Amino acid sequence: MQYLGRFFHSQKKLVFFGLFDSENNLVYPIESIFYPNKTGSPYSFNHLKPILFYNPRKIIGIGKNYKDHIKEFDSKIPTEPIVFLKATSSAIGPEEKIILPDKVGNIEYEGEIAIVIKKEAENISEKRVLEYVLGYTCANDITARDLQKKDGQWARAKSFKTFCPLGPWILPAEDFPKYKNLSLKTYVNRKLVQSSTASSMIFSIPYIVSFVSHIMTLYPGDVILTGTPSGVGSLKGNYKVEVEIEQIGSLINSVSKELKLKSNNLSQ
Ligand code: MG
Repeated sequence: MQYLGRFFHSQKKLVFFGLFDSENNLVYPIESIFYPNKTGSPYSFNHLKPILFYNPRKIIGIGKNYKDHIKEFDSKIPTEPIVFLKATSSAIGPEEKIILPDKVGNIEYEGEIAIVIKKEAENISEKRVLEYVLGYTCANDITARDLQKKDGQWARAKSFKTFCPLGPWILPAEDFPKYKNLSLKTYVNRKLVQSSTASSMIFSIPYIVSFVSHIMTLYPGDVILTGTPSGVGSLKGNYKVEVEIEQIGSLINSVSKELKLKSNNLSQ
């Protein structure tokens, strides 16, 4: 398979967009994830680390998109997608630490399939959606569950720093037309806690992208999180959480408690 991403070469101290040829274990430098023309000789993947593939202009979340997850919360099946926004400053890459903020109560993982947008999209029909989708990646929609319930709206609960791990790279949509087969698993400390496929979504990937494009203009690199299946649960310090999409790979992040630093005196 071939994947689009951004990589760090630790010896050369180099950050670049790359096309990862997983069969040959090589990464070719490319102009960008949106223009994947090769610009140089490949590097061995062994010397590279995948990093956050792009800083999205928007991160859009879809709530309650799997029936089994809705049962966990004893709520109703929505008649149209529930759309929310997550602060872009919550995005982190593979292997970066998820920081649990202090005094916000229960914090939970949500393993999800994420869509990355390829080009500007406004009012697009469901039939044409795949022209606008760059590809798919793994996401973890970390949520401060107590705040989500308390606030009613979700911006605060979803937006703390490090609350949106993404990656490790993007499976190009054109290389994987059978998007319904994307298969998602989440592991916490190596124990399987979530397992589902895109075919179990209430609203399909094309339906979601078309729906969102009728609300707000989508831009290259924008990310849409498509909802989580059942099996969500709490994160604690020193946990390791892994979101795996079989056709893509694993997004692994460890968890740390917030360091209690002395607050700066802002009046000075
Ligand atoms: Mg979610």
